Amino acid sequence: MEEANSLSEILSKDLNKLSKAELTEMRRNGLIQQRDPKFFICRLSIPAGVITAEQLEIICKLANEYGNGQVHLSTRQGIQIPGVPYERLSEIQEKLKENGTPTWGCGPTIRNIIACPGYPECKYANISTRKLVYRIKDFIDKRKLGYNLKGKFKIAIAGCPNSCANVYSNDIGIIGVVKPRVKEEICNGCKVCVAICKEKAINIVDEKAVIDFEKCVCCGDCIRLCPFDAIEPEKEGLTIFLGGKQGRHPSLAKKVMEFADEEMVLSIIEGAVKIFEKEGLADGVRKERFGALIERLGFDEIKSLIYGEEDDR
Ligand code: SF4
Ligand code: SF4
Ligand code: SF4
Repeated sequence: MEEANSLSEILSKDLNKLSKAELTEMRRNGLIQQRDPKFFICRLSIPAGVITAEQLEIICKLANEYGNGQVHLSTRQGIQIPGVPYERLSEIQEKLKENGTPTWGCGPTIRNIIACPGYPECKYANISTRKLVYRIKDFIDKRKLGYNLKGKFKIAIAGCPNSCANVYSNDIGIIGVVKPRVKEEICNGCKVCVAICKEKAINIVDEKAVIDFEKCVCCGDCIRLCPFDAIEPEKEGLTIFLGGKQGRHPSLAKKVMEFADEEMVLSIIEGAVKIFEKEGLADGVRKERFGALIERLGFDEIKSLIYGEEDDR
């Protein structure tokens, strides 16, 4: 693979002769130079933060053998092995690749995609977040998206509007949603749904439940909890948010689409990453985030660049 070759070339060089661009390429591949420049952190790609117990055991063994015996659990659901000497990076990298937990993802690239547990573990989940993460990761890898970014780009997925994966503080946030519909012929006005709706979006009118969609966030709780199965899904899908970030100047992502399907999610990710590659600014250490780009160009302009002005989605 082209990137691996160029990385292996870099790793065959003397550490003191590495250029800034080569160190950046190493960071993109998850090899991050520490304060003591002879040592590196190996950041592993762990989409959705899920690996098997066997993979975890091997990571621990490698941390003992190559690193300082510690592992660091990163804020993006990844695992990092600190304290690896430069001359041992090639070896540990190969072993991590064999383990299915390759190093990847610092600097100007698409970072580890994070997700809440989702379906089936979480009883509130409307989607399998893990399946969606794997699909997005596969799409990004096959299309080699994000190889020319000037800054970082983060994606997060939550299985319901509770947003346990902090989707609003990522460049792209995705939430699984379901719109409820009351089956009037079955509803008996028992008020269970009124009590459980956290948004106070349900009222009883003429002994039937009525949903106020100005308040409803499409969490699906009422569908699951009506004791008479009197509420059904009218439509299901994904709400997509753009432009959130944390860091020095945090800001929340804005909604760009509701009830999207997975194809639409992939197309928005591709569009957003390409716009960010093309239009994002970088000036030395100052790298524009996608949210700042949205502010600079305007949300409507970004939307039209992603899926065309004539499209009223
Ligand atoms: S966001 Fe929803 S589905 Fe995901 S863990 Fe939280 S409550 Fe469960
Ligand atoms: S819980 Fe079900 S049956 Fe009871 S009021 Fe709500 S929709 Fe109707
Ligand atoms: S889907 Fe959630 S927010 Fe909407 S009415 Fe039902 S319980 Fe309330």
